Amino acid sequence: MALLVQKYGGTSVGSPERIQAVAARVARARRRGDDVVVVVSAMGHTTDELIDLARNVAGHDDCVHEHPREMDMLLSAGERISMALLAMAIREAGADARSLTGSQAAIITDAWHTSARIVEVRADRVRETVEGGCVAIVAGFQGVSTTREITTLGRGGSDTTAVALARALGADRCEIYTDVDGIFTCDPRRVPDARIIPRISHDEMVELAQSGAQVMHARAVDLGARTPALDIRVLSSFVTGPDEDDPTRGTLITDDPMVREDQVVTGLASARGYAKLLLHALPAGMRTPTEMLGALADAGVSVDMVTESPQADGRVLLQLTVRGDDLARAREIAAQVAARLGGGGAMDERTGLSRIALVGRGMSGRPGVYAQAFRALMDAGVKVEAVSTSSISITLLVPSDQEDEALRALHDGFTLAAQAEAPAAAAVAG
Ligand code: ADP
Ligand code: ASP
Ligand code: MG
Repeated sequence: MALLVQKYGGTSVGSPERIQAVAARVARARRRGDDVVVVVSAMGHTTDELIDLARNVAGHDDCVHEHPREMDMLLSAGERISMALLAMAIREAGADARSLTGSQAAIITDAWHTSARIVEVRADRVRETVEGGCVAIVAGFQGVSTTREITTLGRGGSDTTAVALARALGADRCEIYTDVDGIFTCDPRRVPDARIIPRISHDEMVELAQSGAQVMHARAVDLGARTPALDIRVLSSFVTGPDEDDPTRGTLITDDPMVREDQVVTGLASARGYAKLLLHALPAGMRTPTEMLGALADAGVSVDMVTESPQADGRVLLQLTVRGDDLARAREIAAQVAARLGGGGAMDERTGLSRIALVGRGMSGRPGVYAQAFRALMDAGVKVEAVSTSSISITLLVPSDQEDEALRALHDGFTLAAQAEAPAAAAVAG
């Protein structure tokens, strides 16, 4: 008998039939003798619809800043609907079940409305429910703050609820059921050639998730990575028939991934909505980037990539990439700092940029990865606006209207389809 934590995303509980299908799987696990805790997301596009409703009522789009507490009250209702319906469906399927809000399940968070962080899970009530022979259905994406307010964890946060509960309960398995077969080498909706990655490390998955691979909430993977690491299986809730209960299907996020010696890139992810600011004719020397970056940080503007290049007149060109939403503020602050430094004042910008991340433990210390990426993009006619690197990733800024082309070119250039297809015998644990 095992204790399973299973999370079902919005599409997986998007209709009465989908809820019944989830209920049938959970009831089957109960008949096998397993204990089950289920974490649910809101049905289908409910969260988006609730946000639209709030915007219509407020008459503007900035409800998160103007009404953070009420947004949490509103959005947490989405998961309440699906938890109650799923509990009914499981009971109809012949197993006992009880739904619990995040607050009832004692998911304690900080007080940061709409993007709260879990600080503690007091899992006693969930544990008692399960020990009483009942399936515990916990509303994902929500908690209660230390000041007793209802909070939500940020978009996609139900994954984090599941991982936090699995940890607090010491679950034997943590399974994230979604609408694709697992983690792919790239979003399979963008790159049809993408292949399933059977095993991936937590650090690679954190990087992919932070870079736009929506399939997992980055904070969920980060929580799974803490010592002792928790394995997380990502799999489809849509599989039926003999494969449905195959414990090895999908992707395992683990600290014991299968690493092939020749594998440089594990996967790609991308996100839109970036902009680049070019600040010309600034004085050379450390004071320029130090003051510029300091002022931007003080104003809460996060700078993603920074390059400084010398100009013919001995001055420097500073290029900064920021989120498109931050561009206006960044421009204003940069102008003030440039004036203070005695800069030339000329400023250019590029908008409509996408950030593409190539992620893989295998690129650490390996020469030629940049060259290979640039060759693939050059052959596809994609213009690279900026680059940066970390120990397990390279990020490139490209025009958003070339994002899909760039992803496909990099996927082909690093032969990701062939790599993921390679037989397991060619892999070594590492
Ligand atoms: P859920 O509602 O189950 O939480 P999400 O919509 O949050 O599901 O995440 C699943 C989606 O993530 C998939 O439908 C897919 O389009 C997208 N996705 C992005 N990158 C990847 C990737 N590398 N592998 C798998 N899916 C990905
Ligand atoms: N319902 C929330 C969202 O759509 C949380 C989640 O699905 O994980 O973002
Ligand atoms: Mg999700």
